[in-house]
Amino acid sequence: MTFDELGLSQKVLAAVETSGYTQPTPIQEQAIPPALQGRDILGIAQTGTGKTAAFVLPMLCRLEQGRARARMPRTLILEPTRELAAQVEASFAKYGANHKLNVALLIGGMAFGDQEAKIMRGADVLIATPGRLLDFFDRGKLLLTNIEILVIDEADRMLDMGFIPDIERICKLVPFTRQTLFFSATMPPEITRLTEAFLHNPVRIEVARASSTAATIRQALVATHGHAEKRETLRRLLRGAENFKNAIIFCNRKRDVAILHRSLDKHGFSAGALHGDMDQPARMASLDAFKNGDVALLVCSDVAARGLDIPDVSHVFNFDVPTHSEDYVHRIGRTGRAGRSGTAVTLVTGEDRKYLDQIETLIGNKIDWEGPRLDELPPAEDAPRPSRGRERTRSERSRRPAAAVERAERAAPARAAPARAEPVRAEPARAARPRRPSDADSRPPTYGDRRDRRPARPREDDGPPVIGLGDHIPSFLLRPVVLKPAKVGEE
Ligand code: AMP
Repeated sequence: MTFDELGLSQKVLAAVETSGYTQPTPIQEQAIPPALQGRDILGIAQTGTGKTAAFVLPMLCRLEQGRARARMPRTLILEPTRELAAQVEASFAKYGANHKLNVALLIGGMAFGDQEAKIMRGADVLIATPGRLLDFFDRGKLLLTNIEILVIDEADRMLDMGFIPDIERICKLVPFTRQTLFFSATMPPEITRLTEAFLHNPVRIEVARASSTAATIRQALVATHGHAEKRETLRRLLRGAENFKNAIIFCNRKRDVAILHRSLDKHGFSAGALHGDMDQPARMASLDAFKNGDVALLVCSDVAARGLDIPDVSHVFNFDVPTHSEDYVHRIGRTGRAGRSGTAVTLVTGEDRKYLDQIETLIGNKIDWEGPRLDELPPAEDAPRPSRGRERTRSERSRRPAAAVERAERAAPARAAPARAEPVRAEPARAARPRRPSDADSRPPTYGDRRDRRPARPREDDGPPVIGLGDHIPSFLLRPVVLKPAKVGEE
C-alpha cells in the first residue's frame, strides 16, 4: 500500500514525500483511513511503529477546515513526558510544513508567559502534559469546549506515572462529541476500563506485541560480577563493539544512571545521561546531544527513555537486567529499527537469574552467551584485581548507603587531587587532577571516546575511592564539599 491510497490531503502527502517515507507502516495503514472518517481509534502500539504519524497526519487533514479561537484550542494531544510532547511538536513542524497551523506546547519546566501567549493567539494544536494542562485550565487561562480531536498517547506510561485521574478529568472536560485517538503499548485492566469509559465504538488496531523482538537485533548475554566489575565489563564491551555508531545504556535505578554516567565520563567516554531527577533543560540537552551525535553514549533509566524517538541506535546495553521482562523488549527495541541491524547486550550477575528466566520465557527464546556463562564465571575473588588499591566487594559496598557512596565519590577527587603545595582554587575537580599517560592514550580513539579532550587518568576502581580508611569514612567525606578559594600557600 502507498500513502496515496489512505485518503490524505495533497498538502499532507507532499510533506510525507519530503520526509522520505515511501510506505505507510502497519499502524498508519490501519489507523489513518478510519481516523479521517472521524472514528475513534484504539491503537495498541509502541514507539518505533510510526504511531505518531498515524495520528498527526489525519489530524492535519481535519484541521485544514476551520480556525482556532483565542483560548480555545481545536485539538489536544496528551503526552506523559515533556520530551514526548516536544517530539510530537517536532512531528507537527515536519508533517505540517505546508500548513499554517498554530501549535502550542504546554509542559512543565517552561515559562508560563510564552505558553499563555500562544494559547491566547488561538491554538490549532495543543500538546500538553496532563498536570500543566489542568494547571492552566484551573487558572481560567484555557477553555476546552472547542476540542474537536483528543489524542491520548502512551496511556500505559500515564498509568505508571499516576496520571490516570488527571486523564479522566480531562476526558470529562472536553466535548462529548469529540473524536478520540488513544494509544498504549500494553493494555492493563485500568487502561481497558478507561477506553471503555471514554472511547465510542473505536476501531481497534494492534501492531507488534510487546513480547516480540525484531529479528534484526543480535542479542547477547555477558556474565559479570557486581557493580565496579560491571562498569569495567561495560567499558571492555564498548571498546570492542563492532559496527558501532552509538549506544543507549540502561540502568534499573536513576542513581545508578548518575554513577555510571560519571564513571564513563571519567574514563574518557563521550556520554550523556537521562534520568528523572534531572531538570528539564538538562534532559533536553542530553537528548539533543545524543541525537545530534555530539555524544555517542546515553545512559538512562526506563522511565526517562520510554517512548522517546531516538532513531538509528546501533547498540543497546542493559547495564542491569530489567526486572520487568517487558522492559527488556522495549529497551532492545531501540535498535534494529526499520530493517537495520542492531546489537543488544545484557550484563548478567548471579542475582539476575530469575529475571533472565522471565525474559527468556517472554520472548520464547534462549539468548546466547558471549564469553563464559554465569556458571562458568570464576568467582569474584579470582577475577583480576586492580593494581592500585583494593576493589570493594558488593557486600562491602552495600554496608554504606548509596547516597553516601555517591557523595564520597563526588568529594574525594577534589580533596585527594592536589599532591603539590599549590593553592586550591574553586575550579572543577577534573581540571586540578594530575594526568599520567595511560593505555587509553596510546590506543587509537574509539567511537565512544571524547575527541575534544584527552582521556582522564585511568582509575582501576570506580566504586568509592580507596582512601586507606577501610570502611570507616569520616563524616566530612559524607557531605558535599564546597571548595572555597583559599589563600596562597594554604593546602
Ligand atoms: P514513532 O513510532 O511515531 O515514534 O516513529 C518512529 C520513527 O519512524 C520516527 O523516526 C519516524 O520518523 C519514522 N517513521 C514514521 N513513519 C514512517 C514511515 N512510513 N516510513 C519510514 N519511517 C517512518
